[in-house]
Amino acid sequence: MHVRREHYDEIAKFLDSVSRHVDSGVASCIEKSLSGKPIDDAECLLILKESRPLELRMLELAADYACWLNCDNIVTFVSNRNINFTNICVLKCRFCAFSVPPSSPRGYVLPISSVREKVREALSFGVTEICVQGGINPSLDLDYYVKMLRAIKEEAPHVHVHGLSPQEIHYISMKTGLSYREVLSILREAGLDSIPGTAAEILDDDVRRNLCPGKIGVQTWIEIIKTAHSMGIRSSATIMYGHVERPEHVVRHFRIIRDIQRETRGFTEFVLLPFVHYRTNMYRYGDSRPGSTGMYDIKICIAARLYFSGIIRNIQVSWVKLGRKLAQYLLTCGANDLGGTLIEENISHAAGASETTLLTRRDIVELVRDTGKVPAERTTLYKIVRVYGR
Ligand code: SF4
Repeated sequence: MHVRREHYDEIAKFLDSVSRHVDSGVASCIEKSLSGKPIDDAECLLILKESRPLELRMLELAADYACWLNCDNIVTFVSNRNINFTNICVLKCRFCAFSVPPSSPRGYVLPISSVREKVREALSFGVTEICVQGGINPSLDLDYYVKMLRAIKEEAPHVHVHGLSPQEIHYISMKTGLSYREVLSILREAGLDSIPGTAAEILDDDVRRNLCPGKIGVQTWIEIIKTAHSMGIRSSATIMYGHVERPEHVVRHFRIIRDIQRETRGFTEFVLLPFVHYRTNMYRYGDSRPGSTGMYDIKICIAARLYFSGIIRNIQVSWVKLGRKLAQYLLTCGANDLGGTLIEENISHAAGASETTLLTRRDIVELVRDTGKVPAERTTLYKIVRVYGR
């Protein structure tokens, strides 16, 4: 049965009655959630570091309430396909098990004809989005990216092309000598509609020097994202957590994302990406935690919903990385979006994620219905395509 307004009225009454019995910081988070106001940095840190089990249960309800205020009781997903056009990469991010060096026999670059084939296959699943991302491969030049984007649009003119992270935009800019704006403009002309806010990992240069020393720094990431937003190219925002970062880094990351959003309004969603550690060098050499714990996933989800309340409407959880059961639970802790149906996912699987690479619409609809919420398919930019009633 779908949860209705009365359910949330009951949550509000309950939280109101118990909030005087909890720590004053937690009570403040609860009060803000009920009035739709975002929590501040100190409250975010409190949730991540100090919330006790009983308080956490209340904060889950508070985040669910804030989710309802922001998104009603709708949980969305997009029907999409990932195309990882090359796994060759010269950067050596220590958390990455997907890439191989240019000399590796396992390296590949998809010919444009294969990209076309994958797009045609995706169309038979009724996708509305194609997502393209790859490694930083020195054999690829701007021409390859342009041809790939044009080929996708020729095969599927109405499909939204989401792709090329700030790291890839930076690479093309370095290779061609063009500014970020010029690169984005050429790519948009060729068919790019929006970009993923990946390569953000944790927006703290100390953490980045440890995790991904070859990657762009925080200021460059911000500059590329803001340039895209200023051109009307929307992006997601992401966080990858559960490796070496501390809660303080998470809060700083949240603050950077919040400040960009207040300035540009260009983020479509905030995506939680727990680190998948199994086959990564970083974990093998004992240099990272073994991913996040389930409790930490819950805390991050609550913190994100309450921190971005009224600022970023959509909080997305990755069923590929979290597993479908935990992702489903997080739909009751502040998340309102399950990301894509995907068809093909290489990056998390290379690192050891065990989920299947495709959830059908039906799978997702059943997962969502089981939480009492209403499933709805959306486009990349969150236009509702279809609501799945009872
Ligand atoms: S995360 Fe991306 S940039 Fe880093 S090594 Fe892997 S493919 Fe390359």
